[in-house]
Amino acid sequence: MVGIDLTGRNVLITGGASGIGKASAKSFAASGARVAVTDIDRDGIQETVRGLGNEHFAIDGDISNKNDVDKIIKAAGEALGNIDILINSAGVSDVIMSTVDQEVETWQRIIDINLTGTFNITKLFIKDMVKKRYGKIINISSVSGLMGNPGQVNYSSSKAALGGFTKSLAKELGSRNINVNSIAPGFIDTDMTEFLDHEAKESLKKDIPLNRLGNTDDISELAFFLASDQAQYITGQTISVDGGLFMH
Ligand code: NAD
Repeated sequence: MVGIDLTGRNVLITGGASGIGKASAKSFAASGARVAVTDIDRDGIQETVRGLGNEHFAIDGDISNKNDVDKIIKAAGEALGNIDILINSAGVSDVIMSTVDQEVETWQRIIDINLTGTFNITKLFIKDMVKKRYGKIINISSVSGLMGNPGQVNYSSSKAALGGFTKSLAKELGSRNINVNSIAPGFIDTDMTEFLDHEAKESLKKDIPLNRLGNTDDISELAFFLASDQAQYITGQTISVDGGLFMH
C-alpha cells in the first residue's frame, strides 16, 4: 500500500498457510516487515514462506491446543523477538446444516479454534506489547457474525463473539498504545468458500451491491492499513469488507 512502510516491525499471522493469512503475509513482507506465519497445515506455511524471501519464518501448530500455542510463542520469540503486529486469521467453518442436526462436538471444535484459539494466542503476545507500549492486534471475524447465516449457528456465534473480544481488549489496552480491531469479510474467494458452486456464487452476488465475491487482497489491504501508524486512532472496531452485503 502506497505510503506505508513497516520496516523493522515484526508480524505474526495465524492461518498463514492459505487464503487471507497467506495474502496478508505477502503484503506485510513486501512492506519491509519480518513475518512469521503459523498454521496447522505444515506444508502450506512452508510454501507461504518460500514465496516471501529471506527473514520470514514458518511455525506449525494448532491454536486450539495449549501445548502447541506455547510452542508457537516460543518459536516466534526465537525467530523474531518481540511481536509488534498480530493477525488472527486462522479459522474454520463447517457444512451448512440446520441447528437441530448439528452435533455439540462440531460446535465445540469451531468455538475452540475460532474463539478460544484467538484468545490463546493473543493472551500470550499481549504481555510483550504492554511492556513495549506498542501493538496492533487484528482479528478476522466474518459477516456471518454480524448478520447471521442460516445453518451456521456455530460459526456465526464464534465470529460474533470476536466482536466482544475486540471491544473489551481495545478498552483494556488502549492506554498502553495497543490498537485492537476486527475485519468482517463477506464472501471471499478462498478454500473456505470453495464448496460454493457457480450457481451458488451467482445467487450470492445478487445480494452484494458491488456484484462480486471478494478476493484475499481486499482483506489483506485493510489488515495492512490497520497495522500501520496511519490507523493510530482506530480501535475497538469491526470493519466490514463485503462489497456492501451488510450495512451497519
Ligand atoms: P482458509 O481456509 O484459506 O484459511 C484458514 C487457515 O486457518 C487454513 O490455512 C487452516 O489450515 C488454518 N487453521 C484452521 N484451523 C487451525 C488451527 N486449529 N490452528 C491453526 N491454523 C488453523 O480460509 P480463509 O478464507 O483465508 O479464512 C481466514 C479467516 O477469514 C478465517 O478466520 C475465516 O473464518 C475468515 N472469513 C473467511 C471468509 C471467506 O469467505 N473466505 C469470510 C468471512 C470470514
